[in-house]
Amino acid sequence: MNVFSDTAFDGHEQVVFASDPDTGLKSIIAVHNTNLGPSLGGCRMWPYATEQEAIHDVLRLSRGMTYKSALANLPLGGGKSVIIGDPRSQKTPQLFRAMGRAIEQVGGRYIVAEDVGTTPADMVQIASQTKHVGGINDGKDPARTGDPSPFTAYGVFMGLKEAVRFKNGHDDLGGLRVAVQGLGNVGYHLCRMLHKAGAQLVVADLNANNVNNAVTEFGATTVPADEILYADVDILAPCALGGVINDHSINKIRARIIAGAANNQLESDRHGDMLREADILYAPDYVINAGGVVEVYYCREGKPVTETNKHIEGIGATVREIFERAKQQNLSTGFVADRLAEERFGSKAKTVT
Ligand code: NAD
Repeated sequence: MNVFSDTAFDGHEQVVFASDPDTGLKSIIAVHNTNLGPSLGGCRMWPYATEQEAIHDVLRLSRGMTYKSALANLPLGGGKSVIIGDPRSQKTPQLFRAMGRAIEQVGGRYIVAEDVGTTPADMVQIASQTKHVGGINDGKDPARTGDPSPFTAYGVFMGLKEAVRFKNGHDDLGGLRVAVQGLGNVGYHLCRMLHKAGAQLVVADLNANNVNNAVTEFGATTVPADEILYADVDILAPCALGGVINDHSINKIRARIIAGAANNQLESDRHGDMLREADILYAPDYVINAGGVVEVYYCREGKPVTETNKHIEGIGATVREIFERAKQQNLSTGFVADRLAEERFGSKAKTVT
């Protein structure tokens, strides 16, 4: 079992393996970097096939949170946790209380939130054992439902508009054609904002109900799911899966801007260079999809949604800085984003004593 030599280790400050035989808890808490503040990141519950797979996933995701929070201008570092187990059959309140005790022992250097396989109810169990939990809705602000997706969509919308401004000299979306791949929690909210701003939508989803709703509500045009990436549009917004920008797809993409919510849209870094060479402006996913983590932070601080939204509007300035530097230096936007994040958090992690 490798930890220090895992390709995603990258100077993690702390990795904690926590187990509780009474509840069956097997978990890993990874704290990548706390230079800017305590690390924050979701707790993923997943039936990993091997322990190495769980280690790799938690390290990769934790490191990603350092970069995301730094570019979102949050006073937070990057961390993540995983529980090895099947969320459909192995969840108990006792398990999450044991997880809460494990998080408490990390002493506030890691703040947990929901992620794939965990729910607000699970966070409530964790919160019975530790105060280091983000994103629990106290119900005081009616504009706050506990769902981060509308905030993620708002950040993507801001980033997309900034990309249009950079390419076209203004950010008027009136009449522009936008292809949205995936009409789930984020994609559907994004469609609503784009429609309101006058964009023409071309959409696809594997779920026919989502597609029908977008046609009725936004007058969207539909294309089959395997054609959406290649639609004849100005902007492509991937809001479903990672890895969609790859050797197979890249030469067929007709959009001149790519700006969407999906994590890890580029299959590898070199696809960022290929987009630059093809003169396609790519808004790095982790920069523009940070609205959800901004909301988790503001919710935890007890600040109103109006402040969350104001902060999210700052995503536009960050992405503009990335576009400008990338153009000046003839580099891919993804590469520039990573270097800007490292400037902000100081790429050297602190050691735990
Ligand atoms: P979701 O599961 O609610 O929606 C995804 C949608 O994509 C589903 O409706 C699904 O049917 C559709 N889909 C899947 N494969 C497809 C395909 N091949 N073609 C067309 N549609 C397809 O997820 P979500 O919460 O909306 O998140 C969307 C993406 O954004 C994910 O990659 C997620 O990691 C990322 N993201 C989400 C948030 C958030 O706040 N929810 C935050 C940051 C990043």
